[in-house]
Amino acid sequence: MFTCRNQSCGAEWALSDVVIKNEGQGLLFRCPMCGARNYVTRNDADDGTATYEQVTEIPPRGTR
Ligand SMILES: [Zn+2]
Repeated sequence: MFTCRNQSCGAEWALSDVVIKNEGQGLLFRCPMCGARNYVTRNDADDGTATYEQVTEIPPRGTR
């Protein structure tokens, strides 16, 4: 579960709710509700499945 880090939003999303992509500064997803960029890191398990962890050190950007 991800939490939008835009403080005025704070919506929670499952991995299936968001699109994770790389816009040039690392992997992120855009909050479907407010559009904030929330950064994530990808972990590849030994069996090939990818999991994502939210990066909390980088503040959200790009709110509209
Ligand atoms: Zn949001």
